[in-house]
Amino acid sequence: MTARILVVDDMLPNVKVLEAKLSSEYYDVLTAFNGLDAIEKARTDKPDLILLDVMMPGLDGFEVCRRLKSDTATAHIPVVMVTALSDVRDRVTGIEAGADDFLTKPVDDVALFARVRSLIRLKLLMDELRLRQETSNTFGVSAPIEIDFNSEPTDARILAVEDAPYEAELIAKTLGQAHQVTVQADPKEALILARGGDFDLVVVSLGLEQHDGLRLCSQLRSMEETRQVPILTLVDDGDKKRLVKGLEIGVNDYLLRPIDRNELLARSRTQIRRKRFQDKLRASFYRSMAQAVTDDLTGLHNRRYLMSHIETQLGNEAGGALRSFAVLLLDIDHFKSINDTFGHDAGDQVLKEFAQRIARNVRGVDLAARFGGEEFVVVMPETDMPNAHVVAERLRQAFSDAPFAVQGIDRPIPVTCSIGVAVAEGRETPDQILKRADEALYAAKRDGRNRVVAAAA
Ligand code: GH3
Ligand code: MG
Ligand code: MG
Repeated sequence: MTARILVVDDMLPNVKVLEAKLSSEYYDVLTAFNGLDAIEKARTDKPDLILLDVMMPGLDGFEVCRRLKSDTATAHIPVVMVTALSDVRDRVTGIEAGADDFLTKPVDDVALFARVRSLIRLKLLMDELRLRQETSNTFGVSAPIEIDFNSEPTDARILAVEDAPYEAELIAKTLGQAHQVTVQADPKEALILARGGDFDLVVVSLGLEQHDGLRLCSQLRSMEETRQVPILTLVDDGDKKRLVKGLEIGVNDYLLRPIDRNELLARSRTQIRRKRFQDKLRASFYRSMAQAVTDDLTGLHNRRYLMSHIETQLGNEAGGALRSFAVLLLDIDHFKSINDTFGHDAGDQVLKEFAQRIARNVRGVDLAARFGGEEFVVVMPETDMPNAHVVAERLRQAFSDAPFAVQGIDRPIPVTCSIGVAVAEGRETPDQILKRADEALYAAKRDGRNRVVAAAA
């Protein structure tokens, strides 16, 4: 994971030290020596992260941060304030200026890379989402990704695993203002909660009296349900070995004790935002998957999905079991004259209503699809011909018994359809079974329409 980092400090040696450290990890480093230069470079070079010194002559770091965060061109770039050792007031000011995290001088390597890594992961996710947002706008996708990248996350579900009462209370109070916090002292119970709880963040103390918090971290990473949940550990200042071990097994970030409220807020916020963006990205992926198998007009499955579904039903894939199932092929009668009489838009509305009536009249295990134009298919697993015939007849009546109300047309339009029924026999291809259904449909049309005909066995 490489990225471009802008290092800002008025002291040349400070810049050189950070530049050397970051370059050795193959980050691409840009430098600036004063506030105005930093803002200029942030605009033109679009870094993925900015490490910003607080104390600079002219514009100080806070002012630079404020300006970066209020300019839409740079507001999304994460900013880490580099402050003098543990100056609590600086952190409050930094948070108010919009800073994403803090580092104290002299900069510790582990801290540096932990902050850099988690903020860059966040930034890359945001970039990906922005790209998708642009693409979905360009293509006029029906459900575009809507995200306010700079909004403060709220209502996150947070699990805190801590047995020290004072700290448990501090975490609950600090994070509880905007989020729902569950505190659990026993990691075994915590693991059960985490697996079922869909948490946005788990905070794990590595200083538990009776237990090893690292074991919980590793279990969280190995379980399917919790693999993606961000983990923040609480570490004693001298316990560097376990802190590093944690980062190695997939902990996202850490806080040193005694816990600083502002650091807790800042790091939780980064992790929660990343989790939320990741969830959005995954949801948008599933949505585009769904779009690829859905018919736009009716919302039923499309032909592509239908064919692979029948293939699966037939068990034609390597060694699959042969299943019995029925196929109904429905074709609206004289649909062309509906279009000709009432217009194409009215025709579309009839198709939508037709699809809804199909969906209302089949079981959940049945699959309804638009085969094309005014032809539809229903696939019914575990169904023999007599039962399939009953369902087909019920469907036929669901159309013919009640004419279709169409917006802009005064009187409801009578709609009927013809249905061909086929039941899977032996080893056939999807095309073969559909062909038999189509022959039955043709017979239904020839015999006068508005009827059901079973395919010859
Ligand atoms: P039959 O009873 O023999 O099935 O007659 P039909 O008129 O229904 O059959 P035909 O295949 O001649 O005509 C189908 C019509 O469906 C022609 C086509 O323009 C129309 N059609 C296909 N897709 C759509 C669509 O998405 N919207 C609308 N409004 N019409 C469509
Ligand atoms: Mg047709
Ligand atoms: Mg037709």
